[in-house]
Amino acid sequence: MPALRFRSIARVSAVAIASVLAAGLLTSCASEPDAIHPTAPATKGKETPKPVAPKAEDPPASPEVSAPEEPAAPESPAFDRAAHSLDDPNSIWVIANKLRPLTPQTYTPGDLVVPNVRNTNGQPLRQVAAGATEQMVAAAAADGVAIHLVSAFRDYDTQVSIYGSFVANQGQAFADTTSARPGHSEHQTGLTADFAGDDACTLDTCFADTAAGQWLQKYAADFGFTMRYPDGYEGITGYFFEPWHYRYVGVELAQEVKAQGMQTLEEFFGLPAAADYAG
Ligand SMILES: [Zn+2]
Repeated sequence: MPALRFRSIARVSAVAIASVLAAGLLTSCASEPDAIHPTAPATKGKETPKPVAPKAEDPPASPEVSAPEEPAAPESPAFDRAAHSLDDPNSIWVIANKLRPLTPQTYTPGDLVVPNVRNTNGQPLRQVAAGATEQMVAAAAADGVAIHLVSAFRDYDTQVSIYGSFVANQGQAFADTTSARPGHSEHQTGLTADFAGDDACTLDTCFADTAAGQWLQKYAADFGFTMRYPDGYEGITGYFFEPWHYRYVGVELAQEVKAQGMQTLEEFFGLPAAADYAG
């Protein structure tokens, strides 16, 4: 009964694909881009640069200390773009994208901890990002905005499995629009988190317009996070709009990027656009 057998195989395949998709969503940001609706219309325009908030680390003026050799109105020191490596996977400034795999590609951070916040998948972050996440979630809560962690660190082997499933079921071309190749995922740095609020827009572009999404756009930089895949910059980042996907880079860089009105780390550091893999 060939017809029956064909239907049976087709049904099994459909179930297998559905399982992979479901697994992808559950491990979350399994897909990278996590975009479930890659063709969703743009909902957010480019942000206009906002006034720079005073930096917490700015030392208070101390009139008692006299420094006669200094000019009356010293300029603020230029931002040091070489303060941290962009290549070392242990650097808080490491840039991972479709043209910049982590080296080694099997990199795993040595200081992963599970942040003490509501955490859907229980995934860890590097210590510094976990601490920043705890502070940021607490600050949002103090403003009456609930934010929690959906997805954080994913290791190389997990990405091999997720990406491989997409390739096996839907082919490499499709897989590359949906899932990061192993070694190229920002989540593997342990510095990247997907956040959600208490509403129905989890891992959806409409998150940008929720209270949690709006709060993050306003304050994430003050905790060292930058939205990594802004709307309309897929030609540079390689990924469609992901208003939930934030990368920890430290307060200094996050605030500088924002102060300059820059939208992507690639542009800030003058790196090549990474719309697609080199080969
Ligand atoms: Zn993500």
